[in-house]
Amino acid sequence: MNCGVCSIPFIYLGLLMGASPRKKEPWKPVIQKVQKRLSMWKCKNLSFGGRCALLQSVLDAFPIYYLSFFKAPTGIISQLHSLFRSFLWGGNREKNKIAWVFFYDVCRYKKFGGLGVRDVGAFNLALLGKWRWRFLVEKEGLWHTMWWYDIWGIGSGIHVTSYWFSKGCVKEVGNGENTMFWDDVWYGSSALSTRYARLYSISNNKSATLADMCLRREGSVVWNWCWRRDLFQWEEDQLQLLYLELQSVKLFEEKFDGWRWKHDSGGSYYDKSAYQVIINQSIYADFSMYRYLWSKLIPSKVSSFGWRAILDRIPTKQNLIKRKVLPSNVASCVWCGLCEETSSHLFFECFYAFKLWMSCLQWFGFSSVQNNTILANFEQFVGVPNCNVVNRVRWSSIWLVTLWLIWLARNEAVFCQKIMDPEDVVDLIKLRSWNWLRVKDLAFQYPFALWSNNPFSCLNFS
Ligand SMILES: [Zn+2]
Repeated sequence: MNCGVCSIPFIYLGLLMGASPRKKEPWKPVIQKVQKRLSMWKCKNLSFGGRCALLQSVLDAFPIYYLSFFKAPTGIISQLHSLFRSFLWGGNREKNKIAWVFFYDVCRYKKFGGLGVRDVGAFNLALLGKWRWRFLVEKEGLWHTMWWYDIWGIGSGIHVTSYWFSKGCVKEVGNGENTMFWDDVWYGSSALSTRYARLYSISNNKSATLADMCLRREGSVVWNWCWRRDLFQWEEDQLQLLYLELQSVKLFEEKFDGWRWKHDSGGSYYDKSAYQVIINQSIYADFSMYRYLWSKLIPSKVSSFGWRAILDRIPTKQNLIKRKVLPSNVASCVWCGLCEETSSHLFFECFYAFKLWMSCLQWFGFSSVQNNTILANFEQFVGVPNCNVVNRVRWSSIWLVTLWLIWLARNEAVFCQKIMDPEDVVDLIKLRSWNWLRVKDLAFQYPFALWSNNPFSCLNFS
């Protein structure tokens, strides 16, 4: 036949197959692949926003087929996350840079205040959950091996994000022959053995199916209870409650029992919905302003700068001193020299920034007292009354461009010892915002002269 004899482990699609996935060795090609892709780009030539977009694309092209078969060891997940973190914050193998935001906060969805970068560990579990789902609904084609033992543990207590799988699966009752009356979650949010623990403990038919328990006699339902002794009065009361719950139960002779994944409207398991359940971000408060921060009208580097500023994770002197990058004797503001350079001072309290905001508001004919924390100021600014969504998105670009240009003017002063004239900065705010809107917003086609002299007529606040 002239065929070569292959031995295990062997390389298939660039990955080591046949070796134990619990060891680090088979995962080396995955790590190398990610390293190679990320190092193809010189971090220093990309803005933070650019690196974030690139990281997403690398994660999208991640060797998913390997993650869909094997549970990655914790050390491998940490190593991958460390690579992502280092790339995102501009470091490389030789030199780490400050990771300003905790990686798991970066993994939050944008609507919960993160960047929506994928958590590989959770994604791995979501992909593997599919095998458990297949076992439930197909019940064949799988074999019991060490691999299967790993899969069976997914989402049911062995792993950190315990029970997400078991809790997400709901029994859909048909003829009741395949549903455990006491132990399966087939009615209500938990098993009857949990909710009626006392009755369960004295039941003699703990392993009865629903079909065994629910008998039909002369057109009505009779429950086949079997107790190891007579019930006390309070147990009788419990039984009455259980009767009430079971009143609406109906079996369908011609239909088999099935399963429904409760996190999907169609009832089927999808890794996307499972991922959302595993990372469980509903514990975080909604960041309702995200749509204005991450609008398509704003360049990603400016949006991501705004995001970092809102979290106070930008290299102001105060933040650098806290992290021991700067000595404590260089804390003063580059413009006034009187106060410590904190985010609040730099962007709102310093006379220089205050003058810029006032000029911006006057440009639109507004006057207002400014909030001096970044998030509150953003909410106040964007929350201007009598404005529809389209114009509110445009209006938010003024806030972001002002914040961004204050930061650039500050850098010019710190690194080039050049104090920009505030009037020049205001002109830049007008020009940049007009450019962004004109290029990205097809309905915004006003000449610069009109935008500069009468911006109110270009944004409808009526
Ligand atoms: Zn100052």
